[in-house]
Amino acid sequence: ATVPTIRLNNGVEIPQLGFGVYQVPPEDTADAVSTALEIGYRHIDTAEMYGNEKGVGEAVANSGIDRGEVFVTSKLNNGFHRRDDALRAFDQSLADLGLEYLDLFLVHWPLPGIDVDYIETWKAMEEIYASGRCRAIGVSNFQTHHLRRLFSETQVRPAVNQIEVHPYLTQEELRAFDADHEIVTEAWSPIAQGKVLDDPAIVAIAERLDRTPAQVVLRWHVQRGDVVFPKSVSRQRMQENFELFDFQLGTGDMATLTGLDRGERTGPDPDTFNYIP
Ligand code: NAD
Repeated sequence: ATVPTIRLNNGVEIPQLGFGVYQVPPEDTADAVSTALEIGYRHIDTAEMYGNEKGVGEAVANSGIDRGEVFVTSKLNNGFHRRDDALRAFDQSLADLGLEYLDLFLVHWPLPGIDVDYIETWKAMEEIYASGRCRAIGVSNFQTHHLRRLFSETQVRPAVNQIEVHPYLTQEELRAFDADHEIVTEAWSPIAQGKVLDDPAIVAIAERLDRTPAQVVLRWHVQRGDVVFPKSVSRQRMQENFELFDFQLGTGDMATLTGLDRGERTGPDPDTFNYIP
């Protein structure tokens, strides 16, 4: 079964399932992404912060797949929130990826309390979008109060908000806010970096459906309408994580997973995190 796409608020289509490369070592990235492309992934989520954009670009270039068939996302790193730095960082990401354009470029973190207002950063993102070298722009780790400021002080509505979401952090409120404002939610760490896979309720559903716990959790995300890009460097797990479109969870199983919410983050809190490398 093929991966469905979701239409962003500017008409661009994004594959709902992608491959994430956070913590993939730079020297292993080209191989991992090549394997993902062989399996059928057509959406890669990287970031300047991950240090592996060159490997992503190498794999895309060597795949023989048309550029237009692969959706590539990267993100603006925390040290580059000033307008001029943001424009330069975007150029550098394109150069490192060896691409003429990005499909999606995100502000990685809102960074409360630093000496650059993220409104300045978003206005730079608008310039990048207007240059035509990026098909869509969005944000990551933005809370409702950050988004409200963008709505009142800037022009372009973010196409996506990439936030931590998994069964232990279901993010009902923020996801609903995104949806109300035509922003697609992308769920990062969709399996909580593996932490939810031993959960007895998830294991029980997986056994009953003859699926793996990872497939059950990823399918839950898909049915909620979020975009996901699980990370793995093992071909077998990449393959497993790709097989989500030939089964369904019933409403009871969906509710069981959602009911596991305990407000537990695996990553930093966007309202306090302001690390600049
Ligand atoms: P994830 O939830 O995708 O979990 C990845 C880990 O789970 C892997 O290291 C692997 O050991 C294990 N795993 C993967 N598939 C498995 C399977 N089928 N069975 C058993 N174990 C399996 O975690 P992640 O990498 O943090 O998140 C996914 C992607 O989200 C990242 O690669 C990155 O692209 C993005 N991300 C974005 C942000 C952000 O701030 N915007 C933060 C974290 C991650």
